[in-house]
Amino acid sequence: RVKGKWATSRPKYPPTTLALQHFDVTYSSQLGHLWPSVRVALLSERKYGALLNNFSLNDVEEDLASQGCRDFVTDTDRKEHVSMEQDPEVEFSETSDSTSVEQRDTFGQHQLSQPHLSPTIKCFVFPRGDITRFKPARPDSSGLLGYYLMDAASVLPCLALDVHAGHNLLDLCAAPGGKTLALLQTQAIRFLCLNDSSISRTSRLKKVLQSYLPKELLTREKLRITSFDGTKWGEIEQNTFDRVLVDVPCTTDRHSLMEDDNNIFSKSRTGERRGLPQLQLQLLLAGVVAACPGGEIVYSTCTLSHIQNVGVVEQAIHLARENHGIHLKVVDLRPLAHMFRNTFHFASDVQLGELVIPHLAANFGPIYLCKLKRLS
Ligand code: SAM
Repeated sequence: RVKGKWATSRPKYPPTTLALQHFDVTYSSQLGHLWPSVRVALLSERKYGALLNNFSLNDVEEDLASQGCRDFVTDTDRKEHVSMEQDPEVEFSETSDSTSVEQRDTFGQHQLSQPHLSPTIKCFVFPRGDITRFKPARPDSSGLLGYYLMDAASVLPCLALDVHAGHNLLDLCAAPGGKTLALLQTQAIRFLCLNDSSISRTSRLKKVLQSYLPKELLTREKLRITSFDGTKWGEIEQNTFDRVLVDVPCTTDRHSLMEDDNNIFSKSRTGERRGLPQLQLQLLLAGVVAACPGGEIVYSTCTLSHIQNVGVVEQAIHLARENHGIHLKVVDLRPLAHMFRNTFHFASDVQLGELVIPHLAANFGPIYLCKLKRLS
């Protein structure tokens, strides 16, 4: 047997294999009988959405529609009302003996009205089961691209943030900028702070913004781009923003199964991976402190991990009160999930927030999102 030249330096198990082994253990117990089908979807080609760029002069909407795509944001049955045994804004109280939170139904059976959504965020997708790929976007006469390709479920945290005219907004972990672009499509933001601790990724973010936005929007009066450690944001600015997006670094489940390069499951990054829930908690707390009283925060990840999703939110609710005297209310996102149930598969048993789980016929996600409102 001839040994390969680099046999000694090559890892026995590549990081993608280690990731799959890890997910098989944790997600088979977390998702039970659902895991085998979610596993197949995660290992198959993902589906994209085309986020429409309202600032481009190209009329791509007609072109996309002629290819059989539809805008999933507007193409829902909005007249339908949802009957659920819960108030849209649910209060959470801590149980005395643990840090877990208990969901309390304050008003019993309710007819929920549809959530308010920005009519200007549009994201085109091919129908269920159709795995056609989008062509690369083309520049218009001023060089601006007509759409941005991203996981369509990544638009949900931006819709959930519910930006209104005149809002000040912080995007704490913004690079490479997909969600920033979606938020900017609202054309409602008064001032936008974009931050990402990685300098190289911040440069990528700037390039993305230049490819999609007219120069008039990229001024110091409207936009600030920084590369701070987001966990320290509370030391810089407190009680300031109407809306905060905390889209944290996570195990990026789909990417970790596909790419060995720069994989969070590589042996050299074990410490970093194990430290993720703590980093996520610190980032979420910093986002909570940066929001103004009455302000709203959306926490999001692209992992199925309960520890990185619900676990982080539970701890943040507890620590915000204990360490900062900030009371938080969890906003029920079930009306939003119900509205988009024909486009995405939502997990049915998530305690806090909503989780889009990959499915072969609608291979988006995983995307977890949870919305918090500052009461004090
Ligand atoms: N929101 C982005 C988008 O939609 O394109 C994706 C953000 S990605 C999931 C997480 C980002 O967090 C990475 O770009 C990473 O550089 C950044 N990050 C990691 N640690 C951070 C920290 N301590 N402070 C701020 N950003 C951090």
